[in-house]
Amino acid sequence: LFVDAALAAGETVALERNQSNYLGNVLRLAAGETIRVFNGRDGEWQAAIAGRKRPDSLTIVAQTRPQDRLPDLAYVFAPLKHARLDYMVQKAVEMGASSLQPVLTRFTQVSRVNSERMRANVIEAAEQCGILSIAGVAEPMPLDRYLSQRETRRLLVFCDEAADAASPLQALQGGPAAAHGIDVLIGPEGGFAEEERTLLLRQPRILRLSLGPRILRADTAGVAALALVQAALGD
Ligand code: SAM
Repeated sequence: LFVDAALAAGETVALERNQSNYLGNVLRLAAGETIRVFNGRDGEWQAAIAGRKRPDSLTIVAQTRPQDRLPDLAYVFAPLKHARLDYMVQKAVEMGASSLQPVLTRFTQVSRVNSERMRANVIEAAEQCGILSIAGVAEPMPLDRYLSQRETRRLLVFCDEAADAASPLQALQGGPAAAHGIDVLIGPEGGFAEEERTLLLRQPRILRLSLGPRILRADTAGVAALALVQAALGD
């Protein structure tokens, strides 16, 4: 369970109502039983449930795992609507992304992104896949601003259905070094506009990557790209 509090032996953490309901009504846990909690920075801890009628707080007992570390892998993507955005965020976290950067491109159909909802999805995905780090969620920005602000020593993997589909793994392994981190860029359903493609191809340390001969939906492309990048360059 994710808790937004410092974790150390003997500390008491008050539970939010939804957490209390989840522990009491869904998991049917009662006072005295233990669960494992994390806060994204202090590792994983065993915690004892307290509360007379329903769980209302936790007493932190002992550390069970040290803090883990995510690969320096940013998922940079044109946001989709509602459930598909939830899916994109959850899958990116499951596939090891350490930060999420929505970018607004010419054909992006979403102009507002609910960052709180993205954060909730990040936490839920971290809980489900047992990682202790919480991926960062950045505010959306236009593609050109992202490109002008990006740290140019990072490898930029530009997923482009028009790239040569012959051997994506070899393209990644033979491409620019990834020692300073990797950004994986996925476009919107309508793809990138020609002027955006031109701008992208002028970027330092860019690698144009094909994900195979079929045009994938943007949410599928994200999962495929992160899997390929991890397989080729992951540590
Ligand atoms: N513009 C395209 C079209 O309408 O023909 C489709 C764009 S695709 C649905 C959305 C995004 O997924 C693309 O911008 C690209 O980043 C990524 N993508 C999808 N299929 C891909 C592939 N085979 N190789 C590389 N990237 C792909």
